[in-house]
Amino acid sequence: MNTLDLVVIGGGSGGVRAARTAAQRGARVALAEAGALGGTCVNLGCIPKKLYSYAAHYGEAFEESHGFGFSGPAPAFDWETLKRNRAIEIMRLNGVYEKLLIGAGVQVMRGRARLADAHSVEIEGERVSAKNILVATGGAPQRPHFPGQDLAITSNEMFDLEPFPQRLLVIGGGYIACEFASIFNGLGSRVIQVYRGAQVLRGFDDDIRGFVAAEMVKKGVDLRTNAQVTAMKRTASGLQATLQDGGVVEVDAVLAATGRRPNVTGLGLEAAGVQVNEHGAIAVDDDFRTSVPHICAIGDVIDRVQLTPVALAEAMALVDRLFGSGRRKMNYENIPTAVFTHPDVGTVGLTEAQARQRHGRLRIYRSEFRPLKHTLSMSSERTLMKLVVDDASDRVLGVHMVGADAGEIVQGFAVALKAGATKAVFDATIGIHPTAAEEFVTMREPVA
Ligand SMILES: Cc1cc2nc3c(=O)[nH]c(=O)nc-3n(C[C@H](O)[C@H](O)[C@H](O)COP(=O)(O)OP(=O)(O)OC[C@H]3O[C@@H](n4cnc5c(N)ncnc54)[C@H](O)[C@@H]3O)c2cc1C
Repeated sequence: MNTLDLVVIGGGSGGVRAARTAAQRGARVALAEAGALGGTCVNLGCIPKKLYSYAAHYGEAFEESHGFGFSGPAPAFDWETLKRNRAIEIMRLNGVYEKLLIGAGVQVMRGRARLADAHSVEIEGERVSAKNILVATGGAPQRPHFPGQDLAITSNEMFDLEPFPQRLLVIGGGYIACEFASIFNGLGSRVIQVYRGAQVLRGFDDDIRGFVAAEMVKKGVDLRTNAQVTAMKRTASGLQATLQDGGVVEVDAVLAATGRRPNVTGLGLEAAGVQVNEHGAIAVDDDFRTSVPHICAIGDVIDRVQLTPVALAEAMALVDRLFGSGRRKMNYENIPTAVFTHPDVGTVGLTEAQARQRHGRLRIYRSEFRPLKHTLSMSSERTLMKLVVDDASDRVLGVHMVGADAGEIVQGFAVALKAGATKAVFDATIGIHPTAAEEFVTMREPVA
């Protein structure tokens, strides 16, 4: 049997990047993919979700246009058109991924793969051997446990839901739950979001959490915190969910966005001697080596930071070590991220609570305002911007925002944080007027 340099299991964000760049550096590479190329991000995550988020802004934009002089009958939304156009675009992307892989010389193998032993992988009865194996199988949605739980769907089924849910119950308070609540609310569903914790978006800055939750409620999401679904059943007119407080809600569809688990089932990890950690994720060291050193793992299946750009960066660090410039430690600090709620959240660096634990005195700068656009649109949407600064060194530790284009804005500030920018550098930067972003370089008086 011909021994390859690398076999990759999983053609998602991390796997495709690793396979392609390894092949471009001269390695002989095969990649096995059980579903569509591009993985979660392209098919069931970032991309379709962002497309639907754009769609959900149009209804609101029409309402807002009246203050700018536009009028006319309210436009109708056609769910079938959105689904069809999304599917066409995703298919185009699947083709782009395939072309990139084949163009780089990667052997693309279709089917479910498993480790046959420590040096070979079996794909639909075919065996390939390699000096190195990379597991990049991502994650899958996890369901909550209550009677009737199977009546709920997961984010995987939301994009092609049939028919459009006029009434939607979202269970969960993480970013995926909040995004779908915002999207379907924007598209015209009556959305109830139920979360067992005291506030949504655990792990984000507390001011941001409270602010975006209030904005979502203002836009129409019926957000119920400290609440839990205890049972669900089908009735003649929909799905009936019973809440912990005895309340009952009736909806057309229920989305369970209650976390994700690493995709390790059926991979043959035990046969190859690969260990998983207490959370069921593949355990790896700083170089992404598993307990079997020539078998590596990256991306959601190692459950560090479940984001596409992180899987891509892990792939690049791994390929550099195996086939390139040498060992390089992946840096997980100051990873910027966005939540595509309405309005968006953009954030990089430490939350105020994290900074208080790790640093001494802080200076907090906070600005809350009505964006210029909404002075005429009559929308009550507000924007929040916040800087967390270390008082002793003057370094900016955290940049947080809720407002239109927060993700776009915070990406640039992430570079400043990586470069170690101080508040004095922010102050010395000239703003771009009139923008919301300029507020980040014009906040002068700390609020705490
Ligand atoms: C609803 C949703 C929204 C998201 N939004 C964002 C966002 O806005 N920004 C962001 O950065 N991240 C987002 N993410 C997270 C992002 O999608 C993941 O972090 C990223 O896709 C992880 O890449 P990966 O390569 O580890 O795994 P994946 O992209 O999940 O790829 C794994 C691939 O492995 C394949 N596979 C699994 N088992 C096998 C097997 N045995 N044999 C062959 N193939 C196999 C799967 O079919 C899949 O294609 C979102 C996720 C979800 C679910």
